[in-house]
Amino acid sequence: MIIIMEPDATEEQIQRVADKMENHGFRLVFNRGDVMTVIAAIGDKRLIEPQSIASYEGVREVKLIQEPFKLASRESQKTDSVIDLGRGVKIGNGERPVVMAGPCSVEDNQEGFLRVAHAVKESGAEILRGGAFKPRTSPYEFQGLEEEGLKYLAQAREETGLLIVTEVMDSVDVEMVADYADIVQIGARNMQNFKLLKAVGKIDKPVLLKRGPSATIREFLLAAEHIMYAGNRNVILCERGIKGFDSTYARNTLDIAAVPIIRKYSHLPVIIDPSHATGRRYLVAPMAKAGLIAGAHGLMIEVHHDPDKAYSDGAQSLTIEQYQKVMKEINELIDKFIIPTSK
Ligand code: PEP
Ligand code: MN
Repeated sequence: MIIIMEPDATEEQIQRVADKMENHGFRLVFNRGDVMTVIAAIGDKRLIEPQSIASYEGVREVKLIQEPFKLASRESQKTDSVIDLGRGVKIGNGERPVVMAGPCSVEDNQEGFLRVAHAVKESGAEILRGGAFKPRTSPYEFQGLEEEGLKYLAQAREETGLLIVTEVMDSVDVEMVADYADIVQIGARNMQNFKLLKAVGKIDKPVLLKRGPSATIREFLLAAEHIMYAGNRNVILCERGIKGFDSTYARNTLDIAAVPIIRKYSHLPVIIDPSHATGRRYLVAPMAKAGLIAGAHGLMIEVHHDPDKAYSDGAQSLTIEQYQKVMKEINELIDKFIIPTSK
């Protein structure tokens, strides 16, 4: 921690700060310049709240040098985390990016859902997505089929061999969702639901953690840290767009730079969700490609058998035919630019 004192800080004020830090076990190095004094405090910063020092008289600023997340940090693990998702599918291993695809919600049309499941499997997805518990902005919108939807997902897994990812919204449902799912999703709106993060930290299934619409990358990584600290090291991060000032043409702003930034500061795998990031079907393919070129380990794409009739997110959902076309382009891009560079 670096403590920068005001130019007019008195010796007494500097000493008070020094005493406080030393009492908390920090070793101090003083840099007494012509204008101001800067103190480097070396020690475990978990023992002190930086803001408590910032409020001392004579202190101008307190800066942290180490990242506040530990288990998720690249410092703690130099190599990329490789997460075994089951059925031979791994994410983070530098091989082919992993694709998760399916409708926004699991709806009460099992035939349509199975059609999507078979189609995405044939076009190269490894994981089927679909929400049975839906976080909806309005209480009047479709809220999900809950356990019945989980059963549809499990049946689609039986029929296709795809793995399944689905969201859990409440800690009371974590065990049930984890019983059905191969990957448990924490939605963007719940990224800082710390009780829920702790609950999925106790399960033995990988967790897909989506970035909150207004969360900084540091807050995102600290949310992952909560899950890891509670015991579950298998966390996949998902950049799904953040709130920008302009939502005229796209629902959110896809933060492409978040991918290489996360890969620099963390060893966890990171994927892109171009569907929720844009809210517009025609933007899904270009953003998916951009995400892969930026280094994403995978994609999450919404596909519906009849998007105009979808119970949720129809405008961003691809038809089966559109998905097939997009996947053909994406697979070509992977073969040409991604696999050669990862080798
Ligand atoms: C979803 O993936 O079903 C979803 C609701 O996305 P997000 O949490 O990113 O809004
Ligand atoms: Mn959706």
